[in-house]
Amino acid sequence: MKVILAKTAGFCMGVRRAMEMVMAESNKKEGPLFTFGPLIHNKQVLGLLEARGVKATDDTKGLTAGRILIRAHGIPPRKREMLQNSGLKVIDATCPKVTRVQAIIRHQSNKDRPTIIVGDKDHAEVIGLMGYSKEPAHLIEKKADVANLPPLENPFVVAQTTQDVEDFKEIVSALQARFPDIQVFDTICDATHERQEEVRTFKERVEGVVVVGGHHSANTQRLVKISEGEHLPTFHVETEKELPREALSQMKVIGLAAGASTPHWLIKNVMQEIEAIQARRETPFVHGVKRAYRFLVLSNLAAAMGAFSFAYAVLRLAGGTTNLVFPLMAALYIYAMHVFNRFLDKGAASYHDPDRATFQKQYKRLLIFMGSFAMGISLILSFITGFGTFMTLVGLSLLGVVYSIPLIPEGAGNRHRFVKIKDIPGSRSLSEALAWVAVMLLLPLFSGSSDPVLSVVVTAIVVFSFSYARAVLFSLFQLQGDLMMGTETLPITLGEKRTLALFKRILAGTALLLVCSTLFGLVSSIFHLMLIPLLTLLLCLYTYEKQWLSPGIVLEGLVECNFLLAGLLIIL
Ligand code: SF4
Repeated sequence: MKVILAKTAGFCMGVRRAMEMVMAESNKKEGPLFTFGPLIHNKQVLGLLEARGVKATDDTKGLTAGRILIRAHGIPPRKREMLQNSGLKVIDATCPKVTRVQAIIRHQSNKDRPTIIVGDKDHAEVIGLMGYSKEPAHLIEKKADVANLPPLENPFVVAQTTQDVEDFKEIVSALQARFPDIQVFDTICDATHERQEEVRTFKERVEGVVVVGGHHSANTQRLVKISEGEHLPTFHVETEKELPREALSQMKVIGLAAGASTPHWLIKNVMQEIEAIQARRETPFVHGVKRAYRFLVLSNLAAAMGAFSFAYAVLRLAGGTTNLVFPLMAALYIYAMHVFNRFLDKGAASYHDPDRATFQKQYKRLLIFMGSFAMGISLILSFITGFGTFMTLVGLSLLGVVYSIPLIPEGAGNRHRFVKIKDIPGSRSLSEALAWVAVMLLLPLFSGSSDPVLSVVVTAIVVFSFSYARAVLFSLFQLQGDLMMGTETLPITLGEKRTLALFKRILAGTALLLVCSTLFGLVSSIFHLMLIPLLTLLLCLYTYEKQWLSPGIVLEGLVECNFLLAGLLIIL
């Protein structure tokens, strides 16, 4: 069985923006926070928002203090005035594409032109749009409604942003036949259009389609309708529990689509459940290999292996020593820190990677034992190596702990946004990269190795770029989980696009440094070899960016392979 995941599945720009705004507000300690109506049609997200103290309300009576957020659908101007007069601070998360439709209606109807809106009568966005028309707007839900319109002079028509493109075209043709002077504004959003087109492309490629999203979500319902219109067996599910296992087990290729308000972790849950149906048909060998791979990645052993190999390469680049104690010490330290930080971040994991969250729960004792054991062995090794090395590693371990614990007591009335070091935007990736430089390069240096300064400097830049790129890439993979938990990672602060651009620049700069420093004989020609894992790391980035693979254990394992490759190349 094969699952084809729609590239467009997941939050659209407007929903994501609203989500980011509400999470940013919930991090501030400025009194109660409300959303005017449920932010999105997803029970789990709403549950999480409630747990963070964000309440959904339709009635502001009695509310005089605090903040209220207008959701992506927007609201009528009168309601906006009412909110502004209530004494609450209004935060507007109306999607810019919806704002554009509101502006068109306001502008055109102010010229005394009759307004026609194609949309769903009870949808919040349509209710909001109606409020922007100077005279009462005419609502069209289906083509047949056109005949019921009164005679209109010089009207204009707009669409609810999530309307079906084909239905809108049909309605527009009928309107143009009745009102030749009508002006048409195609306001269907690209995100909607792309999602619908992708579902249409499933035809002839899949035997059935699973659409994930709230049962009350209009755009999800529309995807279901389109898929059914293509005569494909279609299953609309809100969670993996609703999957029709028997029907799916009979299919060889399944298309997986999701509405614009469906979070990634829900899509992942559904995908994993479909794959579990498939696993029942696998041979024991294939099943065994897959389980072993999953264990390696989720237990962080793959990360430790990559770190060992990379640390060995670093040692050779910086000075040519073949002492394996330092790479081992570095790998064990990095392994322990990964295990402990994963547990400290367990809340985020359940929102971006349910498979990892389940794994951590299942093997909690074993993982904690392995992490503690690794830490212990690495400290013993450092002690044997020298007191200075031991103290440096103890210092680094303490820093790893301090990083995640509150430094400012969270008392009543505390208005500090940064309670822990990890709350500082972008600190996670930066501290991870600096820790890699410290354990892989500085520890051996402190232990008396006298390497050429230039080689050490270039190696330090290479280690920093590789490890920083790795950390940023993993932050991108868990973007939604961090967003839900309010963790200020680099992709959240900078935005996904700018983070990707930064990532490319870092790798390009490192590549340039490697080429120039070896070309001019400043460092050994062995440095050239690092260009290969650098290129494969860049390929991983493109795999993520172009959505050739969605974040998960396959992509994570591939990223770790780049670090394994670095050491292997040096050995060869
Ligand atoms: Fe905005 Fe389009 Fe998403 Fe609606 S579907 S919230 S218009 S991006």
